[in-house]
Amino acid sequence: MSVLERLLIRLRQVPAAAGVVIWAVDQVEHGSGRIWRTSQDPWLAANATAAELTIRSPDSPLAAGPDGDSLAAWSAHQPVGPRFGPHDYPPRRDYGRYLHQVFEQLRAAAPAGVRVRPVLGVATDLSRAGGGLVLTLDHGRRQLRVNRAVLATGHSDLEPTAGQRALAAHCDRHPGLRYLRPSIAADMPLDELPAGETVAVRGLGLTFYDVVACLTTGRGGRFQREADGRLRYLASGREPRLAAGSRSGLPFLARPELTGPPQLTPHPVVLTESLVDRLRERAAGQRGSGQLDFSAEIEPVIQTELDHAYYGCAVQLRRGRRAGEQFRSDFRAAVGRWGTVDRARVAQLAAGHGVPDLAEPRIAALARPFSGQTFARPSAFRDRLTCLLRADVAAARAGTAASPLKAAMETLRSLRPALPGIVDFGGLLPQSQRDFLNRFAPMSFLLSAGPPAAQVERLVALLEAGIVEVPGPSARFSPGDRPGSFVVCSPAVPGSRRLARTLVEARAPGGDLPKDTSPLLRNLRRTGLISEYVTTDPVTGERYRTGGLAVTGAPYRVIDAAGRPAEDLYAIGVLTQNTRWFTQVGTGRPGQGSPLCRDADAIALALLGPTAADDTWNLAG
Ligand SMILES: Cc1cc2nc3c(=O)[nH]c(=O)nc-3n(C[C@H](O)[C@H](O)[C@H](O)COP(=O)(O)OP(=O)(O)OC[C@H]3O[C@@H](n4cnc5c(N)ncnc54)[C@H](O)[C@@H]3O)c2cc1C
Repeated sequence: MSVLERLLIRLRQVPAAAGVVIWAVDQVEHGSGRIWRTSQDPWLAANATAAELTIRSPDSPLAAGPDGDSLAAWSAHQPVGPRFGPHDYPPRRDYGRYLHQVFEQLRAAAPAGVRVRPVLGVATDLSRAGGGLVLTLDHGRRQLRVNRAVLATGHSDLEPTAGQRALAAHCDRHPGLRYLRPSIAADMPLDELPAGETVAVRGLGLTFYDVVACLTTGRGGRFQREADGRLRYLASGREPRLAAGSRSGLPFLARPELTGPPQLTPHPVVLTESLVDRLRERAAGQRGSGQLDFSAEIEPVIQTELDHAYYGCAVQLRRGRRAGEQFRSDFRAAVGRWGTVDRARVAQLAAGHGVPDLAEPRIAALARPFSGQTFARPSAFRDRLTCLLRADVAAARAGTAASPLKAAMETLRSLRPALPGIVDFGGLLPQSQRDFLNRFAPMSFLLSAGPPAAQVERLVALLEAGIVEVPGPSARFSPGDRPGSFVVCSPAVPGSRRLARTLVEARAPGGDLPKDTSPLLRNLRRTGLISEYVTTDPVTGERYRTGGLAVTGAPYRVIDAAGRPAEDLYAIGVLTQNTRWFTQVGTGRPGQGSPLCRDADAIALALLGPTAADDTWNLAG
């Protein structure tokens, strides 16, 4: 959608644009696509507010409504359908309706001589022939000859890991067992799970919240506010019981309620581009290459950012705005050349400004609060977990101005757009990139990319009602020793073992090109038109296979198996994740340029390219 929009904007600026055909191929639905498809259930909600969501760039060719071009503004002018307030988290299908409508409006507003032609089908192959590209659809039923192509295939499915294969094989051996592979909840056959049965769920992230919504609200359950303010779950009797776990045993925490307008641009206090340049220079001097060690060189700087937000908020709460500003100013003065403040100095500053008694906001401790602990029995763990989640809901509702912890976590979230400059295209040492992807990124998502507070509060009610149970930290999922079961248990909680006949992998598959099952991507790999991005330490020769699709820097030309950038093939979005970072956020912010918009524009310009006025530009159909 973004590439289409930017292309139409750029085509207005090219005088010789007549005769251009843009084929928009999607196998699900145009505009909305798979993630936002309009037929999904209403309890699957977007993770951004209606005021934040938009697909349009600031210079969109479509006229903005009187109150802007967010989903909230759009919904206010629809003759039918729900209206959303700025702070509502809308159902995904409603954002999908908006996206579909924008798609149709963009089509209609295409400049003279330019046609946008939607094609509903699966692209299964792409090859070079006769100086152009041939796109094969539906395994050969149709073909399109084109001059250039953009891969924007988003999330796809992956081959199972050895562990997943073992679980699936166990399932095959025992009729009656079900194993649901990683996917998005809207595509899982959750309706088939019987009421009352125990279902094991692996993963406590956003897909877990979706699965929970489908199996509770989606089964007719309701939530009711009690006189004491607590939320209570009123079961319909049609729910299964969920035994859900993860490494940490902690579900994704709530997003704080925003106090200001939604922002996409990071405003780092310390983690600036110039600091990153200095760190790279130091690394080059010390190690011979500018690749950074994320945990040793960047995480301490992120900690500085968190401390600044956290103690600044705490001082302000206790002693007023002026005192908060004074703390922040003193803190910034204490930041050293490499973006850090000595721990003892942080403690001294905090004490000096009247907050001597606060626990430090350490990412690892917050994301793994049960690490190394044991619990006497399942109820002891449940009480601890519900207590923690209840406090989290209260902090999220208080917002970033009244909760130091949420101020710090929102800072962590807002730094995400700054990370590509550090991580992309081998910006980290190979082993450090692995560590970033496997350790830091999951913790940062858990703490700062969670659902709205209302969903966490509902989870607390479900834990209290016994509909959802979390066995404890380091949950293990295995084939049952008794036939006809999967086992879920936590080694830290005696008595937590549960048997289930269904195991759900509550995780959207990440990007991993060699394991991707998409026929299109498989064919492109087989013929060498695309390749996996491998990051290499130029000094030691150490390599790390990232799983991302190899592309150049902007305009993101696809790199073939021989290492050559393509002139006619580009890629954007999830497919390039791990080569780049932060490629998943597919929405902008009203009136603001977003990274997505910028990337899409670079591709649009390259698509027009120096041959834009050439006859060969006319796309054959
Ligand atoms: C469950 C879920 C919820 C999310 N919620 C949010 C959110 O609230 N806010 C947010 O900013 N981001 C969210 N995201 C991130 C999401 O990745 C982006 O919002 C956005 O959808 C990414 O856009 P995309 O076009 O890159 O990929 P997608 O939206 O995945 O679109 C890719 C499209 O390509 C089609 N396709 C793929 N291969 C082929 C083929 N071979 N032939 C034809 N068509 C093909 C697919 O059908 C799909 O429609 C969510 C992601 C998931 C998985």
